[in-house]
Amino acid sequence: MIDMANGETVATAAVGREGAVGILSVLGPTPSDFTVIVRARVTASRIAASRFHAAFNRSPAIRHVVQIHVRAIVKQFQLGAACNALHPVEARMARWLLHLCDRIDHDVLPLTQEALSQILGVRRTTVTLLMRNLRASGAIRSDRRGQIEIDRARLVAAACECHGTMRHEIEEIFSMNTARPRDFVVPDNAIDE
Ligand SMILES: [Zn+2]
Repeated sequence: MIDMANGETVATAAVGREGAVGILSVLGPTPSDFTVIVRARVTASRIAASRFHAAFNRSPAIRHVVQIHVRAIVKQFQLGAACNALHPVEARMARWLLHLCDRIDHDVLPLTQEALSQILGVRRTTVTLLMRNLRASGAIRSDRRGQIEIDRARLVAAACECHGTMRHEIEEIFSMNTARPRDFVVPDNAIDE
């Protein structure tokens, strides 16, 4: 998420099991303007930046996967910028829901209307209206505890083409780079839980 000076926020990228947060730190020390929010109950591993940088410098395999992920993230930024500028907010909300579901193992997202307004950079009243429309079309079901269940096919129909484009292009980046050097595995003692 990016936080603007007036307190507004908007989501810039979603990262799941295909990548890592903070990975751009390998490009050099830069103060981060991003806020990272965990949107689903997941298990993750954490590594200190200094140990990650040491592993990155030591291992061609780690450099290889980091380069793949950086390309995928840049693609997200590029397509996301175009989508935010050109596509209606209802289609963007459908795109974000699909985008988030792609990164977990099921079709139920723990997302409140407040969270959606922060992701999209719109008012909560707008989110209420958008959710009503998506519910009416059968694309989502939501309850008061902030759980949104998606109907993937209907949500795809409601989304702009950016979800499909983004998914296809990112899958292509990963599939073009499937050959992995043998020292891919990070030693256990390099990872902090
Ligand atoms: Zn779009």
